[in-house]
Amino acid sequence: MNAAPFSPVSPMTPTRQSLASPPCWPLVVSFGGGTNSAAMLIEMARRRVRPDLIMFADTGGELPETIRFVADFSSWLESHDMPPVVTVREERQTLEQEVLAANTLPSLAFGFRSCSDKYKVRPQERYLKQWQPALDAWAAGGKVVKLIGYDAGESHRVKNHDDKRFMVAYPLVEWGWRRRECVATVEAAGFRPAKSACWFCPASKRGEVLSLAKTHPDLFARAVAMERNATTATTAIGLGRNWRWSDLVEADEQQMKLFDELPDPVPCGCYDGSASDDWANAESSHARREPTPDCNGDD
Ligand code: SF4
Repeated sequence: MNAAPFSPVSPMTPTRQSLASPPCWPLVVSFGGGTNSAAMLIEMARRRVRPDLIMFADTGGELPETIRFVADFSSWLESHDMPPVVTVREERQTLEQEVLAANTLPSLAFGFRSCSDKYKVRPQERYLKQWQPALDAWAAGGKVVKLIGYDAGESHRVKNHDDKRFMVAYPLVEWGWRRRECVATVEAAGFRPAKSACWFCPASKRGEVLSLAKTHPDLFARAVAMERNATTATTAIGLGRNWRWSDLVEADEQQMKLFDELPDPVPCGCYDGSASDDWANAESSHARREPTPDCNGDD
């Protein structure tokens, strides 16, 4: 694959050109396992911008196809002179195990993102805190450059998250890539990633729940078991918050129309793009734990 020349460097462009003069800060990608961050990495490979680290946080609730895609894409990256994907996770337990042990539901069912914070954001932060290039950069007064996979259709989400340790950049926004460019790029490379979120995510849309029941009946049964086990959940009756996944699947066609009248579930921040959102907001999200304001998940 021929590399195209770099586009002019803007302050938002975290290319090696913009970082060519010392100190050369480490370039880190939070790979969400979905379309947007995959497209970002494919284009970086084409432009010969090699990150120092690519991380994927596995909650233990990833779909099997997501795990397969991450492995296949990691091989693709290595064959294109890019680093492999490093999978990080909360080591003590999976999110499913924690939720079952507490007889509850993932926090998103109650309008909070602490599940994403604990199982997506913090494992990446922990990894960086012992990653030597980051330690060296910080010791020398430099920063780690985080690349976030928001596409240009999500540019309203771009904020200045720079602090004394990190510079945050948004290559897809800087390139003007919207969702369609991301999809086309990933498909042209031979991939079709699944939506990257836990199979029991309370942000799942009704169609996704029905699809899970058909394609992964074993996982759907575990989600239903999670709902039935959630005896301490008082403000949510199921993974749909005000509806149960089990009821949805058992409903007849007429009943499904009634479900369509219900409001959308609380959005998830872990989809590709949104996972990065959490990561970008890591410092503040630890302190806030506020209800999720909107949904921009797109994978
Ligand atoms: S995908 Fe959903 S359930 Fe899983 S960590 Fe993210 S918000 Fe929580």
